Amino acid sequence: MSKVIVDCSRENNYSVAIIDNQGKLDYFSFENCQKKTIKSNIYLGKITRVEYSLQAAFVDYGGDKAGFLPFSEIHPNYYQLPIKDKQNIANELRNEEKNIEEDDENEETEIETDNEDKAEQSKKAYRIYKKYNIQEVIKRGQPVLVQVYKDERGNKGASLTTYISLPGRYCVLMPNSPRGIGISKKIFSYEERKRVSNEVKKFNIPDGTGLIIRTAGMKANIEDLKKDYKYLNNLWKEISTKTVQSRVDGIPIYEEVNIVEQVIRDNYESDEKSEIIINGKQGYNDVVKFAKKIMPHEIDKIKLYNDRTPIFKKYGIDKKLDELLSPIAPLPSGGYLVINPTEALVSIDVNSGKSIHGKNVEETALSTNLEAAREVARQLRLRNLGGLIVVDFIDMDEPKNRRLLEKELQRAFMFDKSKVQYAKVSQFGLIEISRQRMRSSVTEMLTIQCPHCCGTGLVKAPSVVAVDILDSILEQLKDPRFVKKEFLEVLARAEVINHLVVENIKEIDEIQKKYNIKILTTKHHFERNEEYVLRSLEDIGNSQTAIELYHAIAAKYEVASEEKKKRNATLRLFGKILGLKNKMFSKKKKG
Ligand SMILES: [Zn+2]
Repeated sequence: MSKVIVDCSRENNYSVAIIDNQGKLDYFSFENCQKKTIKSNIYLGKITRVEYSLQAAFVDYGGDKAGFLPFSEIHPNYYQLPIKDKQNIANELRNEEKNIEEDDENEETEIETDNEDKAEQSKKAYRIYKKYNIQEVIKRGQPVLVQVYKDERGNKGASLTTYISLPGRYCVLMPNSPRGIGISKKIFSYEERKRVSNEVKKFNIPDGTGLIIRTAGMKANIEDLKKDYKYLNNLWKEISTKTVQSRVDGIPIYEEVNIVEQVIRDNYESDEKSEIIINGKQGYNDVVKFAKKIMPHEIDKIKLYNDRTPIFKKYGIDKKLDELLSPIAPLPSGGYLVINPTEALVSIDVNSGKSIHGKNVEETALSTNLEAAREVARQLRLRNLGGLIVVDFIDMDEPKNRRLLEKELQRAFMFDKSKVQYAKVSQFGLIEISRQRMRSSVTEMLTIQCPHCCGTGLVKAPSVVAVDILDSILEQLKDPRFVKKEFLEVLARAEVINHLVVENIKEIDEIQKKYNIKILTTKHHFERNEEYVLRSLEDIGNSQTAIELYHAIAAKYEVASEEKKKRNATLRLFGKILGLKNKMFSKKKKG
């Protein structure tokens, strides 16, 4: 019984969470509607540059930056070749297609999913065409229909493909794929694959069109599958019609549905007890409208949330999200993972903690590792960590136990939507995993870099900053231009100030006496990664802070009455700087 919890109650923020049947968080995503991604959108574009050295083209599709289109992602239909050559290619492609189907039966360590088949098939098409160079067959100014498969990131433009794919709830239509019918590789049973494939063949899918049956499609009855296919086919017809009438203007010809609809289409697993609970009337209406198209039998599972408690609080998701930001992920029997994402890779350390359910060291190690394998897969999915991941499992001596661990990993990654690859577990219990990045990680979505430590997690120790401060005070005082100054204020974070007034008080006193100066210390919370600021009255100038400081100085000197003279002189100086009237100045003096 899984629950999809959706919060659309705020205008520009959509959050979606899935809770599995054990009440565990299974998926989380968040979208700021103002900063929408363009992934999966389809645009009409124009080749602006053909880059021989990269074997790629740059495409103007109306976005801010030119999109990047590798040669391997260009469908041969776009090749500018004599018709005869094109026909030969089409024949070769059909033969290749048969080989692909046979290849499918022996995939071992690499687990691929619905979304990934596209990349692979274009790779195989590329094998035939690598006898060409991009500059021979693709010309500048040529129009292309492109789909975004990777969003713009930093300075990099979006990555594009001409192999269009349109996902439905049960299948994915690839209107210009050489591939034919494909079945999600997560479905392992040969009989199942054969049965569905035979049924789908009756749909009369035109030559040159691909259809991939998703995992959800295997559970659906054949009528629903057919409806889904028809819906996608009509969508593609609409897109084609629109394309003919379009210009290169950055307006998508097809726009990916919003995040809530994506989750319901791609991640929601329906069973008798599953439900989709939505907070926000508008969002609810939109989802119902979308569901009528893609899952008409399941409209009654969609419910409008009617409760005064915020929806994420009600289902305890707020707390679960906090757990996702913690480096520690506990394991059921007392062990835990330490997850540490860095710039280059994500390191995960497996700790046995107090878990002692095995009879001996090896057994304990194995059972903790197996638990860890499942949790690693879950956490990578949940936190959406991609790129290179290195897991340090607990050492095991027996090679057969390492094989068991690999098997468990394979099972655990089976339901990951991202492409995952890994090597064997090394003798020291290390394993390298590479996982495709599909969207921002939870950390990227929910956090910003700490401005104090700039993400390193480290700031200078108070004693070190205190020494820096004392050095720069002395440096300033020894500067001849400083002679006239009588006040210096130190602003630093609380620990540093505490250190100064406890540990360095003697030195401060000496400086004050020697240079006839007053040093004030103020606890200050810096917005950025500053350690401290030294300022004299002139630095402060005529500002609100100056006026506040003026009162602070006055108050401070009230206590030490023997310094009244000095206080008056300072206040006069201060008044001059601030341009305060004598009246106000004298008033303060009386009080
Ligand atoms: Zn920090």
